[in-house]
Amino acid sequence: MRELMKVSREKMTAAVLYGKRDVRIEQIPIPRVEAGEVLVRVKAALTCGTDLKVYRQGFHARMIVPPSVFGHELAGVVEEVGEGVESFSPGMRVVSANSAPCNKCFYCERHQANLCENLVFNNGAYAEFIKIPEPIVQQNLLILPDNVDFRDAALVEPLACVLRGVEQTGIEEGDTVVVIGMGPIGLMFVQVLKSMGARVIALGNRTTQLKMAESMGADYGIDSTHSNVIEQVRKVSNGMRGADVVIEAVGSKETWQQALGMVRRGGTINLFGGCPSGTHIPLDSTLIHYSEITIKANFHHTPRHIREALESIHRGKFKAHHLITGEEHLSDLGTVLERLLNRNGDLKIAIIP
Ligand SMILES: [Zn+2]
Ligand SMILES: [Zn+2]
Repeated sequence: MRELMKVSREKMTAAVLYGKRDVRIEQIPIPRVEAGEVLVRVKAALTCGTDLKVYRQGFHARMIVPPSVFGHELAGVVEEVGEGVESFSPGMRVVSANSAPCNKCFYCERHQANLCENLVFNNGAYAEFIKIPEPIVQQNLLILPDNVDFRDAALVEPLACVLRGVEQTGIEEGDTVVVIGMGPIGLMFVQVLKSMGARVIALGNRTTQLKMAESMGADYGIDSTHSNVIEQVRKVSNGMRGADVVIEAVGSKETWQQALGMVRRGGTINLFGGCPSGTHIPLDSTLIHYSEITIKANFHHTPRHIREALESIHRGKFKAHHLITGEEHLSDLGTVLERLLNRNGDLKIAIIP
């Protein structure tokens, strides 16, 4: 198979999504770079829960209509720059975020660039090359410090979402914080919260991931499949009162509701995990009102958080390599995604073209 995949001048190897669980490795044209754009040779692309969702359902409502390239967490080397690009030149090591805001719309003007009405998304990281659109080149394409490797750098996008989530939740040193869900996002929260001096209670349904949470500093690891999980959390939270903050990083009806049972009076819940569209949940209004519970949610990132994420990886404050549990060749992407769907215990896999 591999002999067939030699790069010719106009073509590159890329993973193309054709539909539900149908990804094919093909030779497709290398994107042409126009004014303001940059072509990046991908050195590492990371698998992500969003990509898994896209793979399972065969499309993404906002950004991926098959047949289409996909994948959005990447780092690499600048191959070519379009007319007018001055900050980048071929050979530079870079990381690119998957989107950039317009800076002009209603939300951008209100410092909510993550909700920009004209977000430009970029997909196609599972390929030898990816073209970076002008707005991303201008705002969210960053040069890598020498000591940051490509795999670690590719984590900036999800980490930026997590950093923003923590910031928006308003957590103080010494707070007891429950994190529900020990997938890559939940584990990133554990690491960030511990670095801020929070007391962290990690909830997960797999022993391997609870162990990982503990190795990242979680003070307690609790099996979320226990029937009395809420009581177990309360036992170690402010003398049965409940946690100061609960961060939900699963995205299910059950765990959104569970979060409400774990928080103390006056506490905050961050419903970080997105549920399938159309999900509705009943909430105990008396509890929310008389216990004065703040319910928040967060989506996406801003250019500032992308920079902070890279800085945090660069300084070694955030250990990105703990989240990357393997490395595979691009030609094996289909197998890797199937494996991840079967929840084999892997977190993120670095896909190398
Ligand atoms: Zn992602
Ligand atoms: Zn905007």
